[in-house]
Order: sequence, then C-alpha cells, then structure tokens
Amino acid sequence: MALSGIQIYKLLPQTNCKECGFPTCLAFAMKLAAKQVELGACPYVSEESKKQLAESAAPPIRLVALKADGTEVKAGNEVCMFRHEKTFYNKPGLFIRVKASDPDLAKKVAEADAYKVNYVGMDFSIDGFAVLADADLGNAIKTIRTATKRPLILMGNPASLQTGLSACGGETPLLYAADASNADAMTDLAKTHKTALVVKADSLDALADLTQKIQAKGVEDLVLDPSPKTLSESLIRNTQLRRLALKNTRALGYPIIAFPCDAKDEGIAAAQAIAKYAGFVVLSEFKPELLYPLLVLRENIYTDPQKPIQVQPGVYEINAPKPESPVLVTTNFSITYFAVANEVEGSGLPAWLVVTDAEGMSVLTAWAAGKFDAERIAKAIKGFDVASKVSRKRVVLPGHVAVLSGEVEEELPDWEVRVGPREAVDLPAFMKQALN
Ligand code: SF4
Repeated sequence: MALSGIQIYKLLPQTNCKECGFPTCLAFAMKLAAKQVELGACPYVSEESKKQLAESAAPPIRLVALKADGTEVKAGNEVCMFRHEKTFYNKPGLFIRVKASDPDLAKKVAEADAYKVNYVGMDFSIDGFAVLADADLGNAIKTIRTATKRPLILMGNPASLQTGLSACGGETPLLYAADASNADAMTDLAKTHKTALVVKADSLDALADLTQKIQAKGVEDLVLDPSPKTLSESLIRNTQLRRLALKNTRALGYPIIAFPCDAKDEGIAAAQAIAKYAGFVVLSEFKPELLYPLLVLRENIYTDPQKPIQVQPGVYEINAPKPESPVLVTTNFSITYFAVANEVEGSGLPAWLVVTDAEGMSVLTAWAAGKFDAERIAKAIKGFDVASKVSRKRVVLPGHVAVLSGEVEEELPDWEVRVGPREAVDLPAFMKQALN
C-alpha cells in the first residue's frame, strides 16, 4: 500500500538540508507521496528506509524500454491523468506494421525508416516496426535489419516468435501477445529472452489476473492490450487503466499498446491513442500524410506545459547577412523564432536575428511578464557582441513592443532603434520599404 506524506517523512533524514530542491524534508515527502519526484533526489535516505519506501518511490506505471542496436523506445513512468497537472514524460512510440511475408519488406522498411520531418527546429521520425509473423520471422528480421536499427514488436504465436527471437541478437523487442490460451509459453519466451511482453484480455479483471500470474513467474516488463473493439471502448478502457494505475493498482500499472491499424478510421484512433494514454501505437502502413500530424500532436501533448518549446538565445544569421544588414530582435519561444526566421528567410533578404532569453515566452507574453524589456534586449545585443558584426548599428524591435523603443535608445545610445511590424508575415515588406 502507498504511504502517506507523513509516513514517508518519518523515513527521511529530517535535516531539511534542501539538496533535493525542496525547503524541507516534509515538502519533499509530500511530493514523493504525490509521485511528483523521485526518491533518488534525496542523497541521504538510508538503505533501510529505501526498502520501506520502495513502493512509494516506484512509478505507478512501470517503465518499459524496447532496445535495438543503440536505439530505444520507452513507455510508462507517467504520474498524472492530465498533462497540466504535471507533465507527460515518455512519448508513445509510433510503430509501422509490416508483414514477414511481404516480398517488398526491405524496401517498405527502408522508406519508413528514412522518414524525417522538421517541426519548429525538432526532427521527428517513426520509432520502430511491428512485424507480423505470417511467414518465417527469423528471415524477416534479418531482412528488416538490413534497412533499420529501430526497435521491433514481434507479433505471432510462441513457435513463430521463438524463430524470430533467435534472429534478434542482443535486442529486447516487445512480444505480442500473451492471452489466457498461451500465457505459459509466452511467459517462458519472454523470461528466456529477457524481453517485454504484451498481455491481452478483453476485460480489465482478466488483464489484472493475467499480469499477476505472469509477474509471479518472473516477467516484470509487461504492456497491456485491453482489446477495445470500438473507439469509445478504447477511450473508456485506457482511461480506466490510467486511473487505476495511478491509484496504485499494481496489476494494471503498465504501459498500454494500441492498434489504430485495425480501426475503421485509423487517424482518429491514433490521435485518441496518443492523447489518451497509449505507450505504443501501431499504424497499418507508412503514410507520411498521417504520420506528420500525429508526430506534431504527440509533441504538443508531451511538451511540459510549464516549459515552452525554446530555441537557444543567440545571433542567427539569415540569408548570409553582411555588415550593413539590419539587426532584428525577438524572443526565444520556438514558434515566435520560426515565424520570424521563416518569413525573413523566405523573403531572401539578409538579416541578423538576435534571439533573447525570454524563458521561452512569445513577445507580448514575455513583455507583460517582464522577461522582454529594454534592459534584456540591450544585454543580449551587448552580450552577443552584435556591434562587432555590423557596420550600421540599426536594431528593429517587434511592433508589439513599440513602447520599449525609447528605453532601448537609452540603453543603446549609439544604435538607431526602429520599430518593425507587429506580425512576422509583414516583415519582408517592412524590410524592403523601410530599411533601405
Ligand atoms: S535532500 Fe533529503 S534530507 Fe535534505 S531536505 Fe531533501 S529530503 Fe530532507
């Protein structure tokens, strides 16, 4: 049973040394009870206390990692129902289903493996492949390994999976799936090869019974397939599973696998799985037009709501600027940066873009929060030594902070301060007409 904050506090050193980042041991204990911190953050817990705290310290959803030749996909370790309560940690892995019997297997895998798309400065790609053992799985894995190093989910009966596992070398794929009819054989396979195992049943009670039996035989890394038949069933079951896991129902404290590939509307089912608690998502085939929105959705859901996506503060050169090119200023919120950078780059006009550290906020938000003011702008321009790059000291402020122009002039007396447009889309016209 989980311990309360006070019970945990009694097992901590009670020295209030603050090394864990909290002002008191009691504050740390309360966070630990709420699963919002790791016990490892306190370096002074005794071995005896660690043992007693093990259950409270364990994440309510076990972390399961699939590994292959240097690549890894992790699921689990989540601690909340809604991302705004804290954050979601491990993005669900997106897997493309392929068939062992496919004569074009290597080509299809290579095409999906090569897919890479950039979104506000981040590169996205798929995470792995789910291989259906409808022919010799060992041969299929050898073929797949000529085209990708990504982790695999192996789908078949115990005999076919045994063949596949023999070809897997030191990898740890995910085996699909143990149900009431084959649990013993699948458990033996997972135990022998030290792999993770999907447990499948069509009710939560049956799932919990099976996971307990399998765990008792020594397989710890489990993944749940609650076998929903409809979109509403998958939403209800996944939500119930997350809720029960967070209430420390250990038998259900595992990541979930979802199969939008079998749904009538794959895109909607995949979006639902990403938003609502799946740890592994299997798609029917490689379709870039479906993957891109799913990857963007996943990124947005798994971004810490308290930490906006940021770019590194600094001076960015756009279209090979020259000493006479203008200096534009913006904040380090990724979307703001890319909105400005893309407009200027698309115009073909050269510019120096100074990105200030505004803690990842957009221009207006940062200004309102006191994170984008004349002092910070001047500090960035001086700190990045922009004056040494230009012959004409001319800085352009975003139109939304026109009110700062006087103060910036005072902070940078030898610079010409101009006020640009409010919207990035108007920058090219402004640069052509007002900066010649
Ligand atoms: S690091 Fe440990 S001993 Fe120090 S305040 Fe935090 S919980 Fe207490």
